[in-house]
Amino acid sequence: IALFEAKDRGRDCHAYYDSQLNERAQRRSALREALERALSERALYVHYQPQLSAKASEVECVEALVRWESDKFGAVSPEEFIPLAEESGLINELGEFVLNQALADVQELNRRCETDIRLSVNISAQQMLDSKIVSKIREALDAANFSPEALTLELTETVLIQEFDRIASELRTLRDMGIDIAIDDFGTGYSSLSYLNRLPISELKIDRSFVRDIDQNKYNRKLIASIIALGKGHEVRLVAEGVETSSQAILLRELGCHLLQGFHFARPMSIDKLIDFVGYGDHSDV
Ligand code: C2E
Ligand code: MG
Ligand code: MG
Ligand code: MG
Repeated sequence: IALFEAKDRGRDCHAYYDSQLNERAQRRSALREALERALSERALYVHYQPQLSAKASEVECVEALVRWESDKFGAVSPEEFIPLAEESGLINELGEFVLNQALADVQELNRRCETDIRLSVNISAQQMLDSKIVSKIREALDAANFSPEALTLELTETVLIQEFDRIASELRTLRDMGIDIAIDDFGTGYSSLSYLNRLPISELKIDRSFVRDIDQNKYNRKLIASIIALGKGHEVRLVAEGVETSSQAILLRELGCHLLQGFHFARPMSIDKLIDFVGYGDHSDV
């Protein structure tokens, strides 16, 4: 009887597991379809999160972050739809849309506020594998009349796992054009350290998982201090992401981070809000 029961339970378990898998697969394919429509109907938009200088608390750069408000699914996180866009090949079109929109918006911001704020854009692995990526970026910069020196491309380490040599040479071309290359979520990947010698990196973004408990966790504090020392040795810019409290900001400033980004200073926002934030905001007390 016991055996019998176990077998039954096993079958229930499988059924439960299968139906969950099924639900997830269904959501993914429905999302993928909706995303394709969103892209052609221009229902995606771009928000911007400021990066402030640690010293003067002035906005030096903004990171473009894509947003999707679906009629059917509500707000969908890029953590969920970017991987879908990568699998289905939509990412190239999505990436071009984000880059063009962001270049135009930041031009407008700098014109309106009489500033020289830089732009940082996330580039996914699939985009880097596009053989036309360099010419596409060059054309987008030309069309927007945007200085390559004012653009940073953020890549995660997963980008670099495939076709290392080809991607390395494209990154060198981009770097020679004056574009900055950042490693995003630094410290979470596999072989971070060797990349610094082998690639034209100009910035490290310290992952927010290290920033999160920097107050309580001595180990993470030491880890951030070593990332900063490493970055300084290679003369790269150090950006901390996910700064949520003033004590984190103070610590990161003391440790020698150059730029701070996080909810403590500002959440990602529309270009109109950003123009207000930069134009009227006095950020010197944060
Ligand atoms: P990321 O590039 O590491 O971007 C930082 C993420 O952290 C953003 O999430 C941002 O809203 C969030 N964040 C910023 N400050 C804080 C903070 O203080 N606390 C917490 N808890 N979170 C904070 P978001 O916008 O949901 O984007 C998630 C990821 O999706 C990005 O991570 C990036 O990998 C990807 N992504 C977003 N937009 C694009 C895009 O246009 N193209 C590509 N390829 N990927 C994108
Ligand atoms: Mg990023
Ligand atoms: Mg990041
Ligand atoms: Mg991150």
